[in-house]
Amino acid sequence: MVFFGGYGRKTKERGELLFLCFECQDVTSHRLVENYAYEQLYGVRVTKHGTHRMLVCARCHHGWDLSKEQWDKGVLLAAELQRMPGRLTDEQVNGFCRLVAVELFPELVAGDPPEAGSASADTLIATFRQDSAWGGRMILFRDGQFVLGGFGPIGPADVLAYDSGGHLEWAYEGLREWVQGMGAAGS
Ligand SMILES: [Zn+2]
Repeated sequence: MVFFGGYGRKTKERGELLFLCFECQDVTSHRLVENYAYEQLYGVRVTKHGTHRMLVCARCHHGWDLSKEQWDKGVLLAAELQRMPGRLTDEQVNGFCRLVAVELFPELVAGDPPEAGSASADTLIATFRQDSAWGGRMILFRDGQFVLGGFGPIGPADVLAYDSGGHLEWAYEGLREWVQGMGAAGS
């Protein structure tokens, strides 16, 4: 008996989300992409394996690997985004980005403030309001210091100065107090 098997990779898009791209330092359209290898027998797909699920920035193609759980939540959010009116206000865009973060990447928006000096992954601290000159730009906490997207390391006093100018949207409650505490300790 001869099997005419085939083997290939296939990519499918399953929807679109709005999210902050850490590379573009901006809110961009992100695609839910599923990439899988499959085997065929007589043109009928018999097994599907090695599935990779990703959320990929449509502009720079950097993205996130997603677990099955993150993927499922992402698909639901993509459906929700499609039901929203065609033209979104800045507030709606920010709200949606926050929803994506809360649902898919809770480690970015929840939990205790990072330990100073810890070499953990980047943590989103704050985002510049869309109506500010640097709308969408992010302040991260990386390797024990603050990093302003597109610029570089800044001090706690700088972060607080942007905040008192009304430019920042904090990633979660309590961060302002935490930064204030750092500023006091460092001076
Ligand atoms: Zn990007």
